[in-house]
Amino acid sequence: MSDEEKDKRDDDKNIWDGLSSSQRDEVESLAQEYMQFLNQAKTERTVADFILRQVSQAGFVDLAAGSPLKTGGWLLHHGKLLGLFVPGQDDPKGGFNLIVVHSDSPRLDLKPKCLYEQSGLGLLKSNLYGGLKKYQWLARPLALWGFCVRKDGTSAELRFGEDPSDPVLTITDILPHLDRKVQRDKKLVEAFPAERLNVLTSSKPSGRPGSKKRFKKAIVELLKKKWDISEEDLISSELELVPAGSARSAGLDGSLIGGYAHDDRLNVFTSVKALLSAKQPRRPCLIVVYDREEIGSYGSTGAESNFVVRLAAAAMAVGGRQPAYLDVLTALSRSRALSADVEGAADPSFSEVDESLNSARVGSGPCVVRYTGGAGKYGASEARAEYMALIRRIFDEASVTWQSTLLGKQEEGGGGTVAYLLAYYGMSIVDCGPPVLSMHSPFEIVSKADLWMNLKAQQAFLSSK
Ligand SMILES: [Zn+2]
Repeated sequence: MSDEEKDKRDDDKNIWDGLSSSQRDEVESLAQEYMQFLNQAKTERTVADFILRQVSQAGFVDLAAGSPLKTGGWLLHHGKLLGLFVPGQDDPKGGFNLIVVHSDSPRLDLKPKCLYEQSGLGLLKSNLYGGLKKYQWLARPLALWGFCVRKDGTSAELRFGEDPSDPVLTITDILPHLDRKVQRDKKLVEAFPAERLNVLTSSKPSGRPGSKKRFKKAIVELLKKKWDISEEDLISSELELVPAGSARSAGLDGSLIGGYAHDDRLNVFTSVKALLSAKQPRRPCLIVVYDREEIGSYGSTGAESNFVVRLAAAAMAVGGRQPAYLDVLTALSRSRALSADVEGAADPSFSEVDESLNSARVGSGPCVVRYTGGAGKYGASEARAEYMALIRRIFDEASVTWQSTLLGKQEEGGGGTVAYLLAYYGMSIVDCGPPVLSMHSPFEIVSKADLWMNLKAQQAFLSSK
């Protein structure tokens, strides 16, 4: 940022300035708890399982089973899309306080037919999922997480490369001595074609020298031995390659967290925690944890599906009531929502893409992003002024440190969230989440103070009248 640009900012809010020593301890213990969550839940299914365990311990019941509600209820669709409900003092007809988040993150999937051998090595073909920078996935340890369903309907859970005693997988990169034509002289997008992201899987052959495909055969035998699955079973599997290893405190001062998938598991973590701490809120509360946000929200577990209608109806049916369809739609249209997703933080090394007056600062709390999209507000579901005023009131009354931000300069690119898909039901919705550095990379960075303040903001929102 030039000095001239620096002058545009008249605020210098930093959460750390206002923290007492006991609050600093709270910040640290929340960060440790969050890192455990990141380490244990690296796929959509494992995120859903983790949350279900958590809310079941808190007495939540399956809304689909129709059993009486004690503290709250959950609704799970296809093992990945999860909704949570906590009743309020008010009738749901007046609307819910709703937080929507997403549990999927950019990664590499395995193709249905992925196994092959070449040059005396066993390899797997990967498939891009979401907006990632391909070069960041080369020459680093990768773990394989997933789920495979055999033809007879039985299934196997795979988790390989996370235990420190496990081997890891990797995608190889070319040595600098030979990269001139294939990488160095090319544009970045052309230098790393997706079909080169092949996963190094084995180098030990199986069978006699001279027998056919003995490196591939070795992998097939390993799959059978480790998980009792065949090569064909890979066609009916969901296998994801993710960065291996744990989330870590980052910075000399340890004030940051580096790890995979802060986008958007940070908001998954804080929203569930905020909901569990909501004691008899005035308005009924909902959380929806969507899948498939990173690829456009398509599919039965994405935000384009009508799950939120079913969740609202199931919440309104608690106690044996039969809500009319119109009542469900009315409740949704009267709802207030946060699309809780992370925001790109201003990065001093790339300051030329930021418009400094509106850019997100690390340590200044969750970002309220009135509109996303690209130049000209295309694709944006802009929050109306009255709703922005309400959010300001809610946060300020709860002493939440927050910032009003926009993503980058107008003509630098753009981004979006699920907000517009919920706005379809007429509800008020705005994007809100903490700033992230190195977003969509295998090692995203957030501030521990922003994590803590994000939880405060979501608690204030859910308990608002
Ligand atoms: Zn996101």
